[in-house]
Amino acid sequence: VFDKNTVITVFGASGDLAKKKTFPALFGLFREGYLDPSTKIFGYARSNLSVDELKERITPHLKKPNGAADDRKVDQFFKMLDYVAGAYDQDDGYSKLKQQIEEFEAERGVKESHRLFYFALPPGVFLDVAKQIKKVVYAEDGVTRVIVEKPFGHDLESARALQNNLAPLFKEEEIFRIDHYLGKELVKNILPLRFGNKLLYSSWNRQRIQNIQISFKEAFGTEGRGGYFDNIGIIRDVMQNHMLQVLTLLTMERPVSFEAEAVRDEKVKVLKSMAPIDHNNILIGQYGKSEDGTKPSYLDDKTVDPNSKCITFAAMAFNIQNERWDGVPIVMRAGKALNESKVEIRIQYRGAESGVFADIPNNELVIRIQPNEAVYMKSNAKVPGLSNETQVTELDLTYSTRYKDFWIPEAYEALIRDTLLGDHSNFVRDDELDVSWSLFTPLLNYLESPEGPKPEIYPYGSRGPKGLVDYMKKNDYRYTEQSYTWPVTSANPKK
Ligand code: NAP
Ligand code: NAP
Repeated sequence: VFDKNTVITVFGASGDLAKKKTFPALFGLFREGYLDPSTKIFGYARSNLSVDELKERITPHLKKPNGAADDRKVDQFFKMLDYVAGAYDQDDGYSKLKQQIEEFEAERGVKESHRLFYFALPPGVFLDVAKQIKKVVYAEDGVTRVIVEKPFGHDLESARALQNNLAPLFKEEEIFRIDHYLGKELVKNILPLRFGNKLLYSSWNRQRIQNIQISFKEAFGTEGRGGYFDNIGIIRDVMQNHMLQVLTLLTMERPVSFEAEAVRDEKVKVLKSMAPIDHNNILIGQYGKSEDGTKPSYLDDKTVDPNSKCITFAAMAFNIQNERWDGVPIVMRAGKALNESKVEIRIQYRGAESGVFADIPNNELVIRIQPNEAVYMKSNAKVPGLSNETQVTELDLTYSTRYKDFWIPEAYEALIRDTLLGDHSNFVRDDELDVSWSLFTPLLNYLESPEGPKPEIYPYGSRGPKGLVDYMKKNDYRYTEQSYTWPVTSANPKK
């Protein structure tokens, strides 16, 4: 209904997120035919930029997924773009913006406005902008939507304060809280995989599954840009938000429909079934120098407090107290400066009963979110030929070979498209945010109190603190000795 003459305003247009993600996502949607050419896009920030200067900043980031430029499309896209300079907390700039929006809408004969405001801004100016939008450029006739970015608070109290300030300005259905993990193709595939496959659905429970791991690994450290990270730590940066979203989708009950509220109701329900995080069942670390001394430690980063206890690696186990999951450790682990970069889910099934095949390796369903998207089930099969031995192999869905000609949208592309359609399924609801902070705040308070434990130092480029394997074993993950090799292909470049 609202796909023509939409007005999109990107606040903080001069910044990093706008340049690297927001504008490229709008361009990607336009290039693929999912953003109507009648759309008007304004950049807004304090910097005194000309629209040409803004275009220059953005251009290097407007590439096709294969890296090729598409100059004709870029020119067409840029015809939709304008820039307004103004302060975030005063009327002037907003009045200019309002005038330009109204001129555009009048020219197009728009009766019901569709205005989308994207906050690519640091949280400090967030409320000022929200107030000014409401006061000056809110669509009195039509639809206004605001897209907001993490961080949604620093703990439960600040998240509630933010929410309480925002609630009088915008209705919940007008707010789209981005967690970009919810826009990732393989995260969006979790519900279809679970509920669209009887085989998986019927075994998705404590009777069949013994451990779930969600791993987030980065092969690099803060590299001189730790100032922001030092106050945040890995738990706030990726666990309370992105990884918890993944965990929720993996463990929620089947929604009554795929309507946004039906899905979000189930997500909130499972979050409420989680036991408090056990402070005695965690593993925390901070990276030190690499073993060969060539890579710096976290504390070598000049932008961080030299005595910082900031956590760059954490593992924690969740216990969901319901019939489906009680007693199954669901381990989240995340770290910087590790041996590789990847985000994956590993669902380990229980072993075979005693008798034949008692010692056979456990089945594992692996969903690799990034890089090289794939879903595979580690399965046992007879070694081909005259042997009667079994060997681990895989039932495999590798996206790059199976879906060669598909456009897999970037997370931001998928999410902005959802916003344009008013679909909230892949956005975080206010009560969901509240429960997630309730879950993490006691742990963070404990870790950040003066009596809190000191993170263990692990070498840059390692798998993390040396207790990791024992920690995983304690949480029921079974390692197997049998060697398993995966043929190296272009889809699976060797680490
Ligand atoms: P940024 O570049 O630091 O800020 C965006 C713009 O806001 C700046 O160009 C600046 O524009 C204005 N600004 C910066 N500091 C300000 C201040 N103290 N007071 C008033 N205005 C200020 O931030 P960003 O990296 O784009 O991130 C924006 C938001 O997205 C943040 O909330 C961040 O947490 C979130 N986020 C970022 C990324 C990313 O990849 N960068 C990823 C996920 C989430 P003017 O001076 O021209 O007004
Ligand atoms: P894996 O590498 O054997 O890892 C299984 C688990 O054991 C992970 O939790 C891993 O931790 C841990 N682990 C592995 N080596 C360890 C060590 N030396 N010390 C401590 N812990 C260790 O995983 P896999 O699923 O069997 O896959 C093997 C390789 O084949 C991977 O490179 C995978 O990408 C590839 N493969 C790709 C596809 C595909 O692309 N379609 C399909 C099948 C397999 P970490 O997570 O920290 O490593």
